[in-house]
Amino acid sequence: MIVVMQPGAGRAEIAEVVARAEAAGLEVHEAQDDGRAVLGVIGRGAARLRDALAALPGIERVVDVAPPYPLASREFRRASTVVEVGGVAIGGPRPVLIAGPCAVESYEQLLSIAEAVKAGGAQLLRGGAFKPRTSPYAFRGLGAEGLRMLREVGDRTGLPVVTEILAPSDLDLFVQHADVLQVGARNMQNFPLLDEVGRAGKPVLLKRGLAATIEELLLAAEYVLARGNAKLILCERGIRTFETATRNTPDLAAIPVVKHLSHLPILFDPSHSAGVRRYVTPLARAAIAAGADGLLVEVHVKPEEALCDGHQALLPAEFAALARDAAALRAALP
Ligand code: PEP
Ligand code: MN
Repeated sequence: MIVVMQPGAGRAEIAEVVARAEAAGLEVHEAQDDGRAVLGVIGRGAARLRDALAALPGIERVVDVAPPYPLASREFRRASTVVEVGGVAIGGPRPVLIAGPCAVESYEQLLSIAEAVKAGGAQLLRGGAFKPRTSPYAFRGLGAEGLRMLREVGDRTGLPVVTEILAPSDLDLFVQHADVLQVGARNMQNFPLLDEVGRAGKPVLLKRGLAATIEELLLAAEYVLARGNAKLILCERGIRTFETATRNTPDLAAIPVVKHLSHLPILFDPSHSAGVRRYVTPLARAAIAAGADGLLVEVHVKPEEALCDGHQALLPAEFAALARDAAALRAALP
């Protein structure tokens, strides 16, 4: 249930709503929307408090939210959320570009790619240090050493770093080294991990699961929001279908659907959607045209030598061209 306060409502009036809700065993999350406070009243039995809250002073209206993800819903915040990471606005007027290798392989590899993507227009650097791999014999990342390299290269190039966390027990390490905690497709419904990254308070990039519906993605987002972390970015990365020509089937419809249902920013990952370098740029362009807030894209200086996903990595020149296309497409949108 959502309680929309009047524009002039003061702290005392808000405190009264919070007190009533908490006395009934409910949780309250506060946001600002269009110059007024909006309170998400969460918990079983919230609807029973509806009339009592509606009668309090300073209240404009009480809305029963139909979707099961109230904090992620557009009803909670009509204005789109902008997540700020190291001075970069994600969800703002400019499409944000997060680029880098699939995996951190060495300091030199990471630095050369970071410099190349920065020159090409990236605002953040991606790279996995703990890699979820289908085969236990594949390269699983450099672990903590890789995280330290990311931090060093991020600081040296001035690019905030985005990297995937696999286990709740690694949280402290990630909080120390990363600017954005990525929860990968395979972990979208790892609920203890969602709880932990929600508690950490660092920006979170949540990718859609391989076989997750949009509603399940928004419910996973709700876990992070319910822990009090509003710095949340979603990412469509393709879903598993009967089609085998691409690694996954990019669900471009998810972009306008999420934008309609939720206030959260949504990025698109053309690399894991396509799985083939030549399809990456056209899909990325389509996603920007569909309203994506930016791209998460794999780039490598020597893809033929990459330890992971080289076949889908763009070369730096291809990435720079895509960055120009993304800016031009955004400018052409209404
Ligand atoms: C990644 O971005 O490195 C990754 C593993 O992607 P996904 O979780 O979407 O498969
Ligand atoms: Mn990859």
